[in-house]
Amino acid sequence: MPRVSPNSSSGRIQSAAMSQHTIVLLPGDGIGPEVTHAAQAVIDAAVSKNGSKIDWIEVPAGATALEQGHDNVLPQITIDAIARHKVALKGPVTTPIGKGFTSVNVQLRKRLNLYAAVRPVRNLPGIKTRFENVDLVIVRENTEGLYSGIENEVAPGVVTSMKVATLVACERIAKYAFEYCRARGRKKGTVFHKANIMKLTDGLFINTAKRIRDTSYTEIEYEEVIIDAGCMRMVTEPSKFDVLLMENLYGDLVSDLCAGLVGGLGVVPGSNIGVDCAVFEAVHGSAPDIAGKGFANPLAVIMSGVMMLNHINERPSALLIRAAYDKVLAAGVTRTRDLGGTASTGDFAKAIIDAM
Ligand code: NAD
Repeated sequence: MPRVSPNSSSGRIQSAAMSQHTIVLLPGDGIGPEVTHAAQAVIDAAVSKNGSKIDWIEVPAGATALEQGHDNVLPQITIDAIARHKVALKGPVTTPIGKGFTSVNVQLRKRLNLYAAVRPVRNLPGIKTRFENVDLVIVRENTEGLYSGIENEVAPGVVTSMKVATLVACERIAKYAFEYCRARGRKKGTVFHKANIMKLTDGLFINTAKRIRDTSYTEIEYEEVIIDAGCMRMVTEPSKFDVLLMENLYGDLVSDLCAGLVGGLGVVPGSNIGVDCAVFEAVHGSAPDIAGKGFANPLAVIMSGVMMLNHINERPSALLIRAAYDKVLAAGVTRTRDLGGTASTGDFAKAIIDAM
């Protein structure tokens, strides 16, 4: 059975007085170091208020790893640290377009078998957008689909990219999604697909999802929606969706689309869950256009940190941070530029700490 509930085996020392956790931190590239260090300060403040402690182990990934003299964008010490300590908070990494090294994210998710990406998208207090009552969760299959990385030049001028679907991966992501619905009291699972065109791959994905749901999760309402029509519904009536299940590429695209419904990429967190490890990271990328300027929004990484605290059973600290950022956003005084304010990354993190 996939694990949805928090894992308590993360190198954790517990006594009546305090819990101590070791968390691996990957600052990443671009705005990554700015937003992850801001999130780290918020998380440390919350856990210390609750008598716990986090020991952070910082490791490199992405272009930063090369700059630090590693011969690989995903050094073995980084993989080993996550495999050993089980839980990581990750900043975004830059991936070259159309050439160069394979995406660190794709490598990381495959090597650690982080098969489920979970991305909650909800309206936040004080952030006015076109839509109200958006409260949905994207569950994205994270290890195969068109991200298999199998591309070939079959003849000069003719290239192919292979979309992979396996029964094992389709079953485990469907079980994860419906188990997630059950554990969180979510009522409906919607599968986005294109099985009218990709009859074998997307066909396997939806047929497996339907079978798993019909066999073990009949209390959860189930629907299948062709993804093009689904995107239209998403931008006309997003509050009708609850949990969305989809394969890798669709999940990537729909995550950014959904971010646009609730205030942008600065406010959508995420987690990558595997059998043994979990890596928490925002949906956004390394934002090279604003890197180093000090005004990136750290909220998406802070929210990812809240998901991480729930995962390691530090629920009071998770609740404390969530209440604090809700309060700061509702007050509307301290906001980063993407949300119409003038606050710096550090100002916003400090306002959250002060609101705890
Ligand atoms: P992006 O998410 O980095 O940026 C898109 C837009 O959103 C930009 O205008 C950026 O300034 C803005 N933005 C993103 N995060 C923000 C934040 N926290 N606060 C304020 N504004 C924010 O997407 P992109 O520009 O397409 O990609 C840049 C790089 O990031 C690429 O190399 C891409 O491969 C990589 N990427 C990495 C990840 C990851 O590591 N998980 C995810 C997506 C993209």
